[in-house]
Amino acid sequence: MRSITDPHELQQQCLSWRRDGLSIGLVPTMGYLHEGHMALMRHARQRCDRLVVSLFVNPTQFGPGEDLDKYPQDHEGDRAKTDSCGTDLLFMPAPGGMYAPDHATWIDVPELGRHLCGASRPGHFRGVCTVVTKLFMLAQPHLAVFGRKDWQQLAIIRRMVRDLDIPVEIIGHEIVREADGLAMSSRNAYLTPDERAAAPAIRRGLVKLADMVRAGERDVEGAKHFLRQEYARELPMGEVDYVELVHPDDITPVSAVTGPVLAAVAVRVGKARLIDNILIEV
Ligand code: AMP
Repeated sequence: MRSITDPHELQQQCLSWRRDGLSIGLVPTMGYLHEGHMALMRHARQRCDRLVVSLFVNPTQFGPGEDLDKYPQDHEGDRAKTDSCGTDLLFMPAPGGMYAPDHATWIDVPELGRHLCGASRPGHFRGVCTVVTKLFMLAQPHLAVFGRKDWQQLAIIRRMVRDLDIPVEIIGHEIVREADGLAMSSRNAYLTPDERAAAPAIRRGLVKLADMVRAGERDVEGAKHFLRQEYARELPMGEVDYVELVHPDDITPVSAVTGPVLAAVAVRVGKARLIDNILIEV
């Protein structure tokens, strides 16, 4: 596995692979890799000739007071994990290496960022869309894999790629979980042992809510109230950021369940802000 830090060296390598007729897959990450990231890499690996993994804690997607400076890091461990998944090229730009000092161009999909994490983290998806577009221009991938844990991010990237005619196939990968159901996340490292023991309640509550809706519950406000109460009881140290039922493609809140809905939550547990979701097909 080759490592590159210079964006233009990455671009030259990928353009050269393209000239040789090789297909390129990209998995963008912020590092501190876990089995969720590795599942994305293995999935991409099977679908392309050359696999590029990027590891960049993108400053433009963090708001003031968020965990940019504290984001966990393990470069050596990450290198070993990417290598073990058959990655051809690990792109690890320097912290300031992706943006010119006078960078002035932004990509935004505001329509899909009004709710959920877009509402709680103003500017977050603008930073995500901009860095993902830059990664697409650099790595020239034929396909890119993103996790459904960040469902809103995936929906926004799909819309951006469609609207801008970017020739990349976007693949959504299922959420990879710990044995007790907690969605894997680099931010789980922030949890104390007590918080970690309680955190699977996030998923349990979502599963109960999905069962209720599948069993015929159609009162959206009632369902959300139920989930908040579940969290108050099962995860007393948690502070709910949002509990929402949205249309899976538009990410707009639904007032009645008439088709597939996405139940999505964000809960602060200690220093971690944890997100999870479940698609409910009715
Ligand atoms: P991050 O490093 O958190 O920016 O995540 C990089 C990619 O991995 C994103 O596409 C995430 O959605 C995906 N990802 C993170 N955690 C998981 C998980 N538990 N299951 C599936 N995909 C994940």
